[in-house]
Amino acid sequence: MCIFCKIINGEIPSKKVYEDDDVLAILDISQATLGHTLVLPKKHYANILEIPTDEYQKVMKKVKELAEKINKNLKPAGINILNNCGEAAGQTVMHYHVHILPRYTNNDLKIEFTDNSSNADLDAVLKKINN
Ligand code: AMP
Ligand code: ZN
Repeated sequence: MCIFCKIINGEIPSKKVYEDDDVLAILDISQATLGHTLVLPKKHYANILEIPTDEYQKVMKKVKELAEKINKNLKPAGINILNNCGEAAGQTVMHYHVHILPRYTNNDLKIEFTDNSSNADLDAVLKKINN
């Protein structure tokens, strides 16, 4: 059983931010920023590619509601919403989850996009995506 399933079953303790029949939100143990929260379905799906759309929508509805609540009560300067799909993308727990990361300054968290546009053939990429 995965670590989030153990949390859902109560075998491992967690700090619950929100819970209903389908969705659980807990404080991320790492607290990358203050209020760093994880939102997950109670049923085990490995990632965004595996979770059915209706379950996905239930999770994302709560992501929005909790982002609003965190924004109201923690008053961050910004918020990142993040999902890692697959090891190459940084996923370490293979139970679908969405990170809510309140941001207080420009550099309290490192999420970097490099400009690689000089290597990109946009028409070729479009064709590949939509083939
Ligand atoms: P990811 O790298 O997207 O798979 O994120 C997994 C997240 O789960 C990391 O940010 C961890 O800090 C967090 N995590 C791992 N174990 C626990 C736990 N027992 N309780 C709360 N968060 C956890
Ligand atoms: Zn699981």
